[in-house]
Amino acid sequence: MENSGVLLVISAPSGAGKLTLLNEVRARKVDQIVTTVSATTRPPRTGEQEGIDYYFLERSVFEARRDRGEFVEWAEVHGNLYGTLNDELDRCLDTGKDVILELDVQGMQNLRRQRDDVVSIFLMPPSLEELERRLRSRGTDDNEVIELRLKNARHEIAERHAFDYIVVNDKIESAASDMEAIIRAERCRAERQP
Ligand code: 5GP
Repeated sequence: MENSGVLLVISAPSGAGKLTLLNEVRARKVDQIVTTVSATTRPPRTGEQEGIDYYFLERSVFEARRDRGEFVEWAEVHGNLYGTLNDELDRCLDTGKDVILELDVQGMQNLRRQRDDVVSIFLMPPSLEELERRLRSRGTDDNEVIELRLKNARHEIAERHAFDYIVVNDKIESAASDMEAIIRAERCRAERQP
């Protein structure tokens, strides 16, 4: 295992700024990080591309592949199925780079049952008030959707101690530095050394 990268799972309530943070970390560590592409039954949003943002699957196809054991983990999130294909994870691990998976809390727990080398990070919004402000300032969702996301966020935040690390996304630069520090420390773990 000494030549392999760190297997990192990041989970965050929607509005916590996960995408912005990951983009910042990727920019700082270009060529050192790969991100798995998940499969989902959710329809593509405008601008999303097959094989880049997600592998978009019909529900029947997803379920058939799941039943054949092709997923290392899967979960139902907001009524849609999401999962990581074994082949996709292997492809990323084979690069020898650090591998990041963006999963919900159940996905992190399912993956941890399969593998003992998972390092998990929960990304916290600075406060629920700030999360609400960010969700409303997007201006794309109606009140009902925002209320649902806030309710889900409270549930997810209550589970944060199931993770190895908690990073607070107050300022993007310091949150990205925290993530880099976690990756560096994990790479130095004694059991990873020859
Ligand atoms: P969205 O539909 O906004 O792209 O993603 C919704 C949720 O699905 C996010 O919380 C995200 O972390 C989760 N998700 C995305 N891909 C996967 C996956 O492969 N497995 C699991 N368990 N959750 C995922």
